[in-house]
Amino acid sequence: MSYVVRDVVVVLALAAAAARLDSWLAWPVYWAAQGTMFWALFVLGHDCGHGSFSNNTKLNSVVGHILHSSILVPYNGWRISHRTHHQNHGHVENDESWHPLPEKLYRSLDSSTRKLRFALPFPMLAYPFYLWSRSPGKSGSHFHPSSDLFQPNEKKDILTSTACWLAMAGLLAGLTIVMGPLQMLKLYGVPYWIFVMWLDFVTYLHHHGHNDKLPWYRGKAWSYLRGGLTTLDRDYGWLNNIHHDIGTHVVHHLFPQIPHYHLVEATEAAKPVLGKYYREPDKSGPFPFHLFGALAQSLKRDHYVSDTGDILYYQTDPKIAGDAQTSG
Ligand SMILES: [Zn+2]
Repeated sequence: MSYVVRDVVVVLALAAAAARLDSWLAWPVYWAAQGTMFWALFVLGHDCGHGSFSNNTKLNSVVGHILHSSILVPYNGWRISHRTHHQNHGHVENDESWHPLPEKLYRSLDSSTRKLRFALPFPMLAYPFYLWSRSPGKSGSHFHPSSDLFQPNEKKDILTSTACWLAMAGLLAGLTIVMGPLQMLKLYGVPYWIFVMWLDFVTYLHHHGHNDKLPWYRGKAWSYLRGGLTTLDRDYGWLNNIHHDIGTHVVHHLFPQIPHYHLVEATEAAKPVLGKYYREPDKSGPFPFHLFGALAQSLKRDHYVSDTGDILYYQTDPKIAGDAQTSG
């Protein structure tokens, strides 16, 4: 709970300080700091979704709803689709987060959809659109109780979260009327999009961008352990602590019930057991600039996987790789 209180106090203090200063020198600093803090709130809500925040299910739900609604995430909708992601990590078809497209589906996409998925900065802005309508080839929405993301008995949970999301949207609309659209854009809109970029950046790089090509699976080749071992740890430098050690992703995927404040320790304990299956992350400087290269490289080369076979590696569309070369 102390992490939640700390983060909420920091978010409110940053907003109050920025509104008071109201200077064009201070706003960019505020946007970077607040967008990063929104991401920290998201990670704590993510713990609630895994049930690792508290043993009390109700408390997980209440705190998760407050944290995630405040940054316009439908708590139960995403919690359930994230559970699907964990239960199927590394599976080409059944995974739910940044999974590869089979070649036939990839070829069926129009050129603008391909651009949105592979040309920076568009993939880093994907999250709200993913919440609304998922990924290519999949139907349903995180807001709709009858979406095929959810079981019939989860309808009430989805309605609750969508209602909380609407209440937050209503609050933001009210504040926009009171404070004016420009002030709200500066206080909430820009940090929101920086949070979205953090989320897309971090979640993409936990499953992509290693120097060695990592496998994806389907059919009998897939297992929970094999899928979990395709995830990657990352070092975010000074931000590791602010981001609640989200970079310790391998052990989080193998044991999602471990709360974030034990993940560093759990990773150290798991390393000798995992041996060569653990890939040590590249060391970061104070800020993780080294990861931009990994991101750009992966978007340039990781486009689709074969429609057949059970152990698969990304293949490259020369057209997209060529475009990236020209514009880079
Ligand atoms: Zn998770």
